[in-house]
Amino acid sequence: MSSVIDLHSHSTISDGLFTPSDLVRRAAAQGVKVLALTDHDDVGGLDEARVAAIEAGIALVNGVEISVTWNKRSVHIVGLRIDPTCESLRDGLAAIRAGRGERAMRIAAELEKAGIPGSLEGAYTYAANPDIISRTHFARFLVEKCIVKNTRAVFKKYLVKGKPGYVEHSWADFSAAIGWIRASGGIAVLAHPGRYDLGKTNLSSLIDDFKEAGGEAIEVVTGSHTADQFVQFADYAQEFDLLASTGSDFHGVGESYMDLGRLPALPSGCKPVWHDWPEMRSTGSDLARRSASSTQD
Ligand code: AMP
Ligand code: MN
Ligand code: MN
Ligand code: MN
Repeated sequence: MSSVIDLHSHSTISDGLFTPSDLVRRAAAQGVKVLALTDHDDVGGLDEARVAAIEAGIALVNGVEISVTWNKRSVHIVGLRIDPTCESLRDGLAAIRAGRGERAMRIAAELEKAGIPGSLEGAYTYAANPDIISRTHFARFLVEKCIVKNTRAVFKKYLVKGKPGYVEHSWADFSAAIGWIRASGGIAVLAHPGRYDLGKTNLSSLIDDFKEAGGEAIEVVTGSHTADQFVQFADYAQEFDLLASTGSDFHGVGESYMDLGRLPALPSGCKPVWHDWPEMRSTGSDLARRSASSTQD
């Protein structure tokens, strides 16, 4: 099964394992025709990705995944078709990046208390872009030290609420971040809503606030949703009159739930976030229809 549209992916500019150009080449090799690079809190990979996309003959969508705080919880908002030169977006992302270094020091201090020394230096050796030092880089260090067998297992034992190495952090303001995306001409997408472990009431209130702030789409199909959640969030999209998005959230081989270009189709009834995008016209006559209706080889 292959899918030609993938609107959520990461490179070494944040916590992915492939450089932007290698990521684009891998996407193209996997059959992707329209790829969004959505690095955490940084748009620094888009120029390189664009050159690679032209060479590979696929369309690149300018994207970003912004870390925000909503009701004391960490939530991710993907921006698609953003203008990476927009000043308010750039300033906002720079402020988030500035907080990551200090947070990393607190994570390392907590791990040290739990008997794991040297994690700050260790994590930075995995961060190709030190501005985006993230829990993923700490996870890779813990795997290297054979403390945990793989990065997914790390997030069960460490770095999450209630476990060693977790620290509270104040990310960007929820509504402000949606405002930056819109100011840059982009579309705000609520990323992987099934990951937040919210009950129905809180989820509805998150989606209400998201819409109120100008959010327009929700990820329905993503690597971290189960098949049941594809259906559940397709229903949410319809109930809240939101466009539906799809993306693997690929970080690297062996670290991601889903590879590039291997997404199932959006459930029927969803209005795809790309329904009026010109990219869809320029990359093949029947592309939008194929991806909207089904996946095929
Ligand atoms: P940070 O932005 O530093 O909080 O790191 C968040 C990143 O950690 C996410 O974007 C994922 O790449 C990774 N991550 C978080 N939770 C998990 C998990 N349960 N399994 C695997 N990776 C995770
Ligand atoms: Mn990540
Ligand atoms: Mn995310
Ligand atoms: Mn992501």
